[in-house]
Amino acid sequence: RASGNLWTMSGVCRKAFMTGLLLLFAGAFLLVPARDSLAAVPDRVEKSEEEWKALLTPEQFHVARQKGTEPPFTGKYWDFHEEGTYACVCCGAELFSSRDKFDSGSGWPSFTAVLEHAPIAEKRDFSYGMVRTEVLCARCDAHLGHLFSDGPPPTGMRYCINSASLLFLPETR
Ligand code: FE
Repeated sequence: RASGNLWTMSGVCRKAFMTGLLLLFAGAFLLVPARDSLAAVPDRVEKSEEEWKALLTPEQFHVARQKGTEPPFTGKYWDFHEEGTYACVCCGAELFSSRDKFDSGSGWPSFTAVLEHAPIAEKRDFSYGMVRTEVLCARCDAHLGHLFSDGPPPTGMRYCINSASLLFLPETR
């Protein structure tokens, strides 16, 4: 009888193990559509590396297409205070508003939020021995910058964006 109990125990363990495994697989399946939504963005802009190179300055190409980072306090927009909209330098998608821009002291243009309905994608980034959240344009996959959770209220978010990935569009009124 004792051995019977043991057998039952291991059966329970096996059940728990299989349930865990099943949950893991379910989790993986739930993650897949989130990644696929990147490709589901309407008006996708896809160009070859050579085509992007011809359209962008060398710095824009390095930052936006090769995930580079401009040196802090050097970009066009870190100390820029005009009212308007910031678009993706590659595809023109409107991404950020000057209303959400704040002076983070980082030397990069910083925003507390993205524009409503902006095609923004976020991706886990393990480069340079850090775990960060990369911010991309979901329409053309341009690298924009990184997202941190040490921003000011009300969102507490800090979108740390390269000037080289942005094109400022002044408010027209
Ligand atoms: Fe874009």
